[in-house]
Amino acid sequence: MQEIPGEKCAVFGIYDKGVDVSRTAFFGLFALQHRGQESSGIAVSDGERIASHKNIGLVTQVFTEGSIEALSGHIAIGHNRYSTSKSSSLEYAQPFIADNRIALAHNGNLPSTTALKSFLKFKGIPTEAASDSRLMVDALGWHLKRGLGIEEAMRQCFPLFTGAFSIVAMTKDSLIAARDAYGIRPLVLGKLNGGYVVASETCALYPIGATFIREVAPGEMLIVDEEGLRSVELAPPNQKLDIFEFIYFARHDSELLGKSVYDVRKNFGKHLARECKLEADVVVPVPETSIPMAVGFAQESGIPYEMGLTKNRYIQRTFIEPDQRLREQGVKMKLTPLPHVLSGKRVVVIDDSIVRGTTSRQVVQLLFEAGAKEVHFLVSSPPIRFPDFYGIDISKQDELLAFNRSVEEMRAYLGATSLYFLSIPGMIEATGIPGERFNTSCFTGTYPIDLKERSREFVSLTHAA
Ligand code: 5GP
Ligand code: MG
Repeated sequence: MQEIPGEKCAVFGIYDKGVDVSRTAFFGLFALQHRGQESSGIAVSDGERIASHKNIGLVTQVFTEGSIEALSGHIAIGHNRYSTSKSSSLEYAQPFIADNRIALAHNGNLPSTTALKSFLKFKGIPTEAASDSRLMVDALGWHLKRGLGIEEAMRQCFPLFTGAFSIVAMTKDSLIAARDAYGIRPLVLGKLNGGYVVASETCALYPIGATFIREVAPGEMLIVDEEGLRSVELAPPNQKLDIFEFIYFARHDSELLGKSVYDVRKNFGKHLARECKLEADVVVPVPETSIPMAVGFAQESGIPYEMGLTKNRYIQRTFIEPDQRLREQGVKMKLTPLPHVLSGKRVVVIDDSIVRGTTSRQVVQLLFEAGAKEVHFLVSSPPIRFPDFYGIDISKQDELLAFNRSVEEMRAYLGATSLYFLSIPGMIEATGIPGERFNTSCFTGTYPIDLKERSREFVSLTHAA
């Protein structure tokens, strides 16, 4: 397993001569905080010089009035980092800058960097300990140094970028946004005053007063400069959005592939209610992601919705603590049960997904401790049996609860009265989008992008459910 973590992060970019771009980037990143809480950074260009500020922590911890004021210009890019393993040091905070020529912020992961590394090694550029995003900016920087324009540099590098990426980059005089040919991670384009913004999700547009234009297409590169906006096709589009964006990752007020994430999540709950008919007294979500799912389930089943678990809103998502012991502590600090809502009840508890089962097991325990008579654990996505290589924190197959376990074995581990997962067809149907437009690899083991040498890291055997 490579030591450098895969990343599912937030990216933001703005080109606008009429607004304070670093301040706008700050608020854009603030609206995208849910995509990454490890580190945050902004780079700006005034046409002459690229300057940046980044640090470990939440957006509001990294930036002060002073650091925002110090970043002046008309182009800005920003990044919130989500770390999936050990490396939480500042060295991995983005944007990355190569020689005052280019700054880059990356959401996604390149499972194989062999070709990219050999290219850089051949050019005499060090690659040890560099993350995939660092390698990308160095490769682009090398071409720019040799005098190529950004469009041509991107065309040259594109074949080396073998994996998932939504990138936002900036030269001294242009803003660039690009997506891999499969569009695994989201990226949208918006309009603001006379300028343009790009962001991981549409939820970043409304707070800054921007309007949504469209998604950046898979395989498309956008360039915004003095001349305006232009689009370049780097590769024919073959949309395979990671369905996990709908399940967990995106904020529910965002839109993906023309669908409201909120509506799709409610539909997951409705489908779950149709597939799994239960006698119960209350439906309780594990806040926050699964709230729309529980609303949908309650509406479809007629079982009343109750907020039986309270989440401390100032606690970040528990995966942020990479150590297992801390992760277990984190769940208790984050969730408190309401005994008078739960006591003596047959409880349906809904969560968006089970990854390692650490949280889920404790949720079941909390509910029983609070007096629940039965705890039916319903998951609004199918069992995750395969690791993820494109930027979500599901990296080692043997850590997955559903790896090589039947649903009954998982139920026993969780200590729940019953356990039910949404079916794969049910999940797809609930989105209202044809299944072939999604990457569903963590459920199916079918990976749209060639994993090259890393395909040895999982077994395709699925346990009969
Ligand atoms: P588990 O029971 O597997 O320990 O945790 C399941 C919980 O993890 C679910 O509530 C889900 O919301 C959350 N989750 C799923 N995927 C991710 C992820 O990639 N990052 C974080 N931080 N949480 C996740
Ligand atoms: Mg959760």
